[in-house]
Amino acid sequence: MTVAPQIFREYDIRGLVGSELDVDTARDVGRAFAVYLDDINVHGPIAVGRDNRPSGDALRDALVAALIESGVDVIDVGVVPTPTLYWALEKLGVGGGVQITASHNPAPYNGFKVCVGTNALYGEDIQKLLVLVEMGKRVAANKPGSVRQEAILDRYLDDIVQRIGPLARPLSIALDCANGVGSLVGPRLMERLGVKVTQCLLCTSDGRFPKRQPDPSQAKNLEDLQQAVRATSAQVGIALDGDADRIGVVDEHGEIVWGDRVLAIYARDVLARNPGAPVIFDVKCSEALPQAITAAGGKPFMWRTGHSLIEAKMHEIHAPLAGELSGHMYIADGYYGYDDALYAAARLLSIMASSSKTITELLAGVPVYPSTPEIRIDCPDDKKFAIVSNAVTHWQANHTVVDVDGARVVFDGGWGLIRASNTQPALVLRFEAHTQDELSAIENEMEGWLRQQGVAI
Ligand SMILES: [Zn+2]
Repeated sequence: MTVAPQIFREYDIRGLVGSELDVDTARDVGRAFAVYLDDINVHGPIAVGRDNRPSGDALRDALVAALIESGVDVIDVGVVPTPTLYWALEKLGVGGGVQITASHNPAPYNGFKVCVGTNALYGEDIQKLLVLVEMGKRVAANKPGSVRQEAILDRYLDDIVQRIGPLARPLSIALDCANGVGSLVGPRLMERLGVKVTQCLLCTSDGRFPKRQPDPSQAKNLEDLQQAVRATSAQVGIALDGDADRIGVVDEHGEIVWGDRVLAIYARDVLARNPGAPVIFDVKCSEALPQAITAAGGKPFMWRTGHSLIEAKMHEIHAPLAGELSGHMYIADGYYGYDDALYAAARLLSIMASSSKTITELLAGVPVYPSTPEIRIDCPDDKKFAIVSNAVTHWQANHTVVDVDGARVVFDGGWGLIRASNTQPALVLRFEAHTQDELSAIENEMEGWLRQQGVAI
């Protein structure tokens, strides 16, 4: 297969298996990554993990063969959550790693998250890999690399359990693993923490995702968990996405707690020990979050959506905590700072246990403003960035516009966001205001302008 350039995205490589990506792509990515590592003089083994999608085994075989042929040693850590691969980067003394995953995308997709050292590649560096693929560059190795298997799931689990320690009181939760690779760890983690799982939904690993898409950022995918919390009187519901780097939370009443509010809970906890520290969140988050961060003595810092971008900014400004509306939570206070829904789940339970508070009580004083969910509108990849850039110009004339990632337009009574998706040919919209009337007004103005640009809403 010739390479499909659109799969080389802002912060990972991802596409539809068969038509956009196949074993040839995996081989090409392996060869290009070997050249990339050689160019920057990074040696030492590369950890390779994969989620539980059926296409993962063949992609692993092709990727590993290409790395070995290029003289790179490989440590195959097997079928693991994406955060477990990140853990391997911290613990195994490797030069980098690749996780074969398409995160929360449906089963026919797959892709590669590529890391050098402990950092995920993004932006220009991913485009460099594309250029190397297109040039067909290869390392002329004197001798082939070696490959060995290393099982790390138990050690990863031990590390989290040790860091969290025994919970201050017993808790009960409903858990939804969405048949994702988190199934291999989630139930065991709860058992080790002494947490009673009242109902375990889709807790067998099945990368065909027969029941539903493993994406807890969509309300419809949390309905079963909401019901389970209510039916079993669980104190909280926790959902994992397909590769367990995103968390979904349902409170004790069965109501969804979106990522920005989950982050507010961590912020209050982390800032109590790190007064004055910055907390990073993405442009889709509620205005209630920066208000809560400020009130807790922290510095709110709004940044771009996407795990690689958020992590890079965390390192740059030494933020102990970051998070995204979509449920990526990055905790560097007492942990490694990468997005890990299993650690995030354990940490949330630890906060609940030691404070003796419910989720609702932990969010006391954080208002829920009227808002829309994240709205995705189809828009071709070659048009979406121009529309966003025009939006910035249009509203800048009379409004404050935060343009770190799309146009987040500040109105008197709220805000509205138009940004280009990095993972789909789509625009992403979100609106929030202090009243329902102001919300409708902001939504009408911004959607009306998009219609004038020829966007079908
Ligand atoms: Zn994910």
